Amino acid sequence: MKRLYTFIILSCNLLIHNINAQDSLFCRNVICNLSSPQMHGRGCAYEGDSIAADFIKQKCIEIGLKSLTNDFYQHYSYPAYAMEGECNITVNNQTMVAGKEYLICNFSSPIAQNNIPILYTDIKTVAIPDSLNKFIDKHKSIIPKCIIYVQNADNPTKVEEKCLRSFKKINPFGSIGIIVGQKTLPMASVSNYPEDYNSALIYVIDTLFDSKPTKISVSFSNQLVDHNTQNVCAFIEGSEVKDSFMVFTAHYDHVGRMGKDVYFPGAHDNASGVAAVLDIAKYFQQNKPKYSVAFLFFSGEEAGIIGSSIFVENPLIPLDRIKLVVNLDMFCGGDEGIMVVNSQDKHTKVFYDNMVAINNERHYVSDIKSRPNAANSDHYPFSEHCPAIFIYTMGGKYGGYHNIYDSCDKCGLENYENIISLIVNAVAR
Ligand SMILES: [Zn+2]
Repeated sequence: MKRLYTFIILSCNLLIHNINAQDSLFCRNVICNLSSPQMHGRGCAYEGDSIAADFIKQKCIEIGLKSLTNDFYQHYSYPAYAMEGECNITVNNQTMVAGKEYLICNFSSPIAQNNIPILYTDIKTVAIPDSLNKFIDKHKSIIPKCIIYVQNADNPTKVEEKCLRSFKKINPFGSIGIIVGQKTLPMASVSNYPEDYNSALIYVIDTLFDSKPTKISVSFSNQLVDHNTQNVCAFIEGSEVKDSFMVFTAHYDHVGRMGKDVYFPGAHDNASGVAAVLDIAKYFQQNKPKYSVAFLFFSGEEAGIIGSSIFVENPLIPLDRIKLVVNLDMFCGGDEGIMVVNSQDKHTKVFYDNMVAINNERHYVSDIKSRPNAANSDHYPFSEHCPAIFIYTMGGKYGGYHNIYDSCDKCGLENYENIISLIVNAVAR
């Protein structure tokens, strides 16, 4: 009886596997590995991006891809902040929850001080130069020892928004730091930071400060380093036209850590795109292409599309031999179809029209939308030299965007194989 029971369960499992095929399992495995705590959010902290690069390189070797360099890596470096070690904020004797209740901007100078006095103001006051100066004048003797709490408005005006943005360049108060209180936390980011901020900028959920606590204890480390990183560059040689390339790209970096206990998983952005490109590589390894196909995995995207820019400045394949770059970034979900960025120039339109025609026949996705070119992912540096598009999914399940909730378990892959099939078929046509 027991044996029969086991047999039934096994058969059911096999059926489910057959329906889902193994590729979305492969994809899930890659996404879960890349967004695990061991990868530290794939940023500068604890060399998380290099740990991810090694994982991707091993996958390339397993699949049987060739290297475009002697070790699959294109090495480079850029200045970046590494927020490692302890990270603690205590207010009203309560330790706040990092990532959920507060977000320290990545360029903040370290603080290690208990019971820092808090001075309260609001965005209405500090957005007007005159009243800002009055506030500074009134408190000038104590400001250098304080943290300034600025209550944001629920619907800030353009002027107030501009003022908030200016806090990311300079602290106008000269205080230890600025705390911005608002309803929800902004997304974590590592781009466009000042390299000599000399203060701390911290966002908090404002309800935690309803009682206007007078002191706050803050402790975190942060360091600007010359961050060594690398693009991972692989290819499959074409069976007929070896010196012409189709290129698939995805960035594997994300925004790293906020101290040793909290990391940003980046499953949707962009472990999912990396998994998709590896999956496409598997397909072409089994179905040898006429043209050569390159698979490029970039770092430094979140810091300002650095990895792909480095590749374009130092191309490992001639840019004028690239037929098309297909960049995949944010590939969970897709219940509402896909968006194709830069799909309407005279070269990329052919591919886009192919995709639409194939989709009309086979109904892989519910919609294929089109957007003009934008400098919003790794296709962009290529687009000035060769045909390049960027595909992302629309709708469906993913955990979050540039926050602690973008985890592997929240990444919906129900449409994944259909989207991959659509892309592969459009390339083949
Ligand atoms: Zn991304």
